Amino acid sequence: MSKTIVSVSKKKNSVWRVYYFDYDEDNLLKFYTKRINPLLVWFYRLKKQRLFSNTCDECLNEFKFYKTRFEKIPDRCMDCDPDLFKN
Ligand SMILES: [Zn+2]
Repeated sequence: MSKTIVSVSKKKNSVWRVYYFDYDEDNLLKFYTKRINPLLVWFYRLKKQRLFSNTCDECLNEFKFYKTRFEKIPDRCMDCDPDLFKN
């Protein structure tokens, strides 16, 4: 399972940090923050994801998901088509 990066930002003391969700040993989704090398900011920005929502074509429920700018918007929810959400 891959990390879901939601923010890349710089604080007053000019330390860059990345904020992300990831699964821990117990397979629970947790929120993390980590210091990063400023040279890698562009790399994390590319991988950054945003929360979107869409209506499932199959069950017509609204669902939410994270994706990067470059990924397609899934047209079915996680319950109807789990394969769409594998990274
Ligand atoms: Zn569905």
